[in-house]
Amino acid sequence: MIKPEIFDYTFGAYRKLIADFSVNELIPAEDEMVRAGAVPERLVRRMGELGLFAISIPRSYGGLEWNMEQQVLLTLEFTRASCVYRSRFSTVIGLCSQAILDHGTEEQRSELLPRMATGDLVTAFALTEEEAGSDAAHLTTTARHEDGSYVLDGDKRYITNAGWADAFLVFARTDPNEPGAKGVSGLIVDAASPGVSTSLPSRMNGHAEAPVGEIHLRNVRVPTSNLLGGEQGEGQGLTMALRGINHARLHVAATCVGQATRILEEIVKHVNERRQFDAPLAELGAVQAVLGECFAEVEAARALVLEGARSFDEGDVPRHRIAAAKLFASEMAGRVADKCLQLLGGEAIVGDHPIPRMWRDVRALRIYEGSSPIHQRNLALAMVRQGKVDGRLPNSYRV
Ligand SMILES: Cc1cc2nc3c(=O)[nH]c(=O)nc-3n(C[C@H](O)[C@H](O)[C@H](O)COP(=O)(O)OP(=O)(O)OC[C@H]3O[C@@H](n4cnc5c(N)ncnc54)[C@H](O)[C@@H]3O)c2cc1C
Repeated sequence: MIKPEIFDYTFGAYRKLIADFSVNELIPAEDEMVRAGAVPERLVRRMGELGLFAISIPRSYGGLEWNMEQQVLLTLEFTRASCVYRSRFSTVIGLCSQAILDHGTEEQRSELLPRMATGDLVTAFALTEEEAGSDAAHLTTTARHEDGSYVLDGDKRYITNAGWADAFLVFARTDPNEPGAKGVSGLIVDAASPGVSTSLPSRMNGHAEAPVGEIHLRNVRVPTSNLLGGEQGEGQGLTMALRGINHARLHVAATCVGQATRILEEIVKHVNERRQFDAPLAELGAVQAVLGECFAEVEAARALVLEGARSFDEGDVPRHRIAAAKLFASEMAGRVADKCLQLLGGEAIVGDHPIPRMWRDVRALRIYEGSSPIHQRNLALAMVRQGKVDGRLPNSYRV
């Protein structure tokens, strides 16, 4: 349950609450989390109490209803701590709740969103399959009509929160005669349904404390009322998914900025304290060049993400700006992490310094929510297409 007084907080007070949570509880527990190989359950409960599952859900459905700019500002605070913590609620606030909010039936919204907001109903977003990763439209999980239900068969992989989610938003082919995007629908599947099982990988390179998992669906019977968007939702699954994906992409871009900010804070401490050649590393010109360059990179990504969030709040989902922000911010986080890792010398490889762990964790941010090459390709295709129409750029700022 969310602490009732939080509903009366101004945004400023709530942002301070989350910043303090990050500094006083999440960051100090990072080593404990790594040793345990899992996010401590007491912290997941605290995330629920503090409303972190609720930031994007409207008040009418029990959420805190912060706008996108505010959600991004909050993300910048809680992702100064390990980005692994975020993954415990990320699938609820972005991918799943937003698709349900924008495309679900009123019954689906009022049934699911209030429980999602408190963290009592954790949902995972199940799109990716072994043969359908970047090319998600060619997924092969099927949902066939049978006796007034859908019956699902297939396997999903790399699904965040698969191992502990209470329900999955599964994308499956409801029209076997339509091999592309138009044959795909979204279905809400109770994780406890007969025929559903999950498994976790034996090893993760990064994000090890919140591993992605596989979902196996064997003759899983789902009522037709669980079709996202009701009858009109049939064949609209990937369009509906994009609503959640665009939302989540901005959150991921903000996560990259939060992580890079923390990495810079940590490296400044290190170069001030570590002495070589009778002086702190911070006095070396080569080190200063890295610091200054990284600071400018983080600021640029921060501005880009906030600009994307403001456009989002103005109404239309500016998907090309969002893609650009995600592409730039995730590549930036990789560059910053790598340069700062170098400044640690042997500590980059030996010991418990947080930067090597973050360097490994941020690598995944260039792969999920659209890998960097996919964003480059999609942006280029949109530019060429738009250029042929009116000579402008996609999501043009021109008046
Ligand atoms: C930590 C993590 C969490 C995830 N969480 C979820 C989740 O919650 N739900 C979910 O459904 N999925 C999730 N995914 C899956 C993720 O979305 C996919 O990994 C991603 O879409 C890439 O698919 P793939 O891994 O099959 O790689 P592939 O599609 O095999 O692509 C491999 C690489 O090839 C390149 N490539 C592929 N196609 C093109 C192209 N047309 N042009 C140029 N380059 C190309 C890219 O560099 C790409 O990185 C997660 C993945 C990770 C790592």
